[in-house]
Amino acid sequence: MIVTIDGPSGVGKSTVTKELAARLGFEYLNTGAMYRAVALAVQRAGIRFNDEAAVTAALSGVHVEMPPGCVLLNGEHVAHLIRTPELSRGASEVGVHGAVRQMLAAAQRTAATGRDMICDGRDQGSFVFPLAECKFFLTADARVRAERRAAELAAAGQQVSVEDVMRDQDDRDRRDAARALAPMAAASDAVILDTTHLTSKEVIERLENVVRDLRACPRRR
Ligand code: C5P
Repeated sequence: MIVTIDGPSGVGKSTVTKELAARLGFEYLNTGAMYRAVALAVQRAGIRFNDEAAVTAALSGVHVEMPPGCVLLNGEHVAHLIRTPELSRGASEVGVHGAVRQMLAAAQRTAATGRDMICDGRDQGSFVFPLAECKFFLTADARVRAERRAAELAAAGQQVSVEDVMRDQDDRDRRDAARALAPMAAASDAVILDTTHLTSKEVIERLENVVRDLRACPRRR
């Protein structure tokens, strides 16, 4: 069974995805990490993130894999290198290029084939897994998302103002929603949940109930 969880930056997808996967005994695929890994490869090659021709040409030397709990770029563990503000912007910029999206969408489909998996991202329900059995799209007020993210960064020892987080978040959301191929969007059959006034535990419980109901009584397609 494939469950997709999409939504804008900072809405809490990865926390929810990890916990929901643990509760259901599913694997999970954090597709944002794949875009970040490509951005790292592009940065290391000295290519500008927005140079579509050069990024596309470089892709033949870029191999991203996501074995459970790991992000491998050409076989190297890179999970600890990709959570920087520069690579957040880089992932968002390389994600506009059609060749990057096609390559990663194919890798995501391969990774999920025949598995019980929860895939989080921006386009999982709308583009990568149109036939997924269960789709969610999470939203939350932009300031609340930025406040949550700034608090997370502070807890990790990085002091960033809510305004700075919000500026970066707005830029990424705008780019994600405007790109030509697979823009961020709720699939027409997604359950949309506004998490502004919910704790992550409440969000997880709601999602878990929907998945369990669907498993007990699958939708006809
Ligand atoms: O989810 P995360 O913030 O790690 O993703 C980094 C960036 O990768 C996002 O801002 C988005 O632009 C891009 N992305 C994407 N499609 C996905 C996942 C992430 O375009 N499925």
